Amino acid sequence: MRRICGGHWLWPRAEENRLAVLPILMLPHPILRKRARKVRSIGASVLRLAHDMIDTLVDADGVGLAANQVGELQRIIVVRLPEEEPRIYINPEIVRREGEREVEEGCLSIPGYRGTITRSLWVTFGALDHTSQAVKLKAEGLLGQALEHEVDHLNGILYLDHLKSHDDLVKLESGDAGTDEADESEAAPDPEDLESPATMKIG
Ligand SMILES: [Zn+2]
Repeated sequence: MRRICGGHWLWPRAEENRLAVLPILMLPHPILRKRARKVRSIGASVLRLAHDMIDTLVDADGVGLAANQVGELQRIIVVRLPEEEPRIYINPEIVRREGEREVEEGCLSIPGYRGTITRSLWVTFGALDHTSQAVKLKAEGLLGQALEHEVDHLNGILYLDHLKSHDDLVKLESGDAGTDEADESEAAPDPEDLESPATMKIG
């Protein structure tokens, strides 16, 4: 199953048929609340991790994934928009935010829930790519949302932190959306109780 990265453009994998799907940490794992460290040099181990994250993201059918979610406190995110090649961003930063909009959001580390939160209309974003080149872009829509979500992860922030009210958090259950599970901001939904996600999983 070689559907990742268009085969070769990101880096030549040493083990061509290797598909590395890593376990995704779930709330309330403490690593999800830690700040990831800056990557000092983009060497083979960083690229390998980034590729494993892409494999993991594709397997989970998500839009983005941050290294914290696979237990690595390094500032690495991967993003995959529908119909596009996955992208690797190292030491990513939201440089500027403009405007506000309400969005629905889910998270691969908080399965079975989605919430309505406020994100930026536009973000200006900077990072290094897999070749250590500086990338700067302005993003809106799903990409802008995913970049904000993933950079938040690197800072130990979850979309739950942006909820204005617990009524804005919905438990995904067929035909029913209860919010009783969430009572406090600490209150992470108990992963044991969760259903499979049925919404766009930002990551
Ligand atoms: Zn997430």
